[in-house]
This record gives sequence, C-alpha cells and structure tokens, in this order.
Amino acid sequence: MRRKRHRPIFVRNCDYCGTQLQTNEPGSDSYVITNEHKIFCRIHIPGQEPIKDCLEDYSRSKKNVRNEKLRQEKANEEKKEISKKEKEKIIKKFDDYLFELKQKQRRLRASK
Ligand SMILES: [Zn+2]
Repeated sequence: MRRKRHRPIFVRNCDYCGTQLQTNEPGSDSYVITNEHKIFCRIHIPGQEPIKDCLEDYSRSKKNVRNEKLRQEKANEEKKEISKKEKEKIIKKFDDYLFELKQKQRRLRASK
C-alpha cells in the first residue's frame, strides 16, 4: 500500500505583524505577496473595507519612517547651519583678538 504523502505546509510570517500564514493554503486570499517577496496578511471580504491589510499598514509605516528620516536630515542640516555660524562667530572673535593683540604690541613698541 502506498503511503499517502503529506502535503507540505509552507508557513511564513507576515512581514509586518508576524502572524503565521500558510502560503499553500488552497484558494487562500488571506495574504498577499509583493514583488519584493514580502508577505503580508490581508483579510478582505469583497465589497467591504479590508479587515486587516498589513501591506497597507506596512507601506504607510515605511512612508512615516521616510518622513521621519527626512525631518531628521533637515534638522541636522539646520544644526550644521547653526554650527557654521557659530564657527564664523568664533573665528571673528579670534580675529578681533589677534587684531587687538597686534595693536597692543604696536603700542608697546611705540612706547619703548
Ligand atoms: Zn500581518
């Protein structure tokens, strides 16, 4: 008697929330695989708003991350701008100091 072969079960975790998804479940539409081979849960009843759409949540969170990064970069840019001004101020002070020092030396020399 031939042994009945077990149908292998492929399980993957949702790339967003980590829920286990059986990827060879026949006719299952409770997940979606992107062209980046990422898998996300998607529970959707036709004609209704998706109950769960991790792809949507994932891309939204990714966008937020990108915005956050942009904001951070802009903040860094501003910080750099400030420190540049700060540096110029210090250099200017130093120049003034050198100028005064020279004046003092000249005065000292003149008084000798
Ligand atoms: Zn999920």
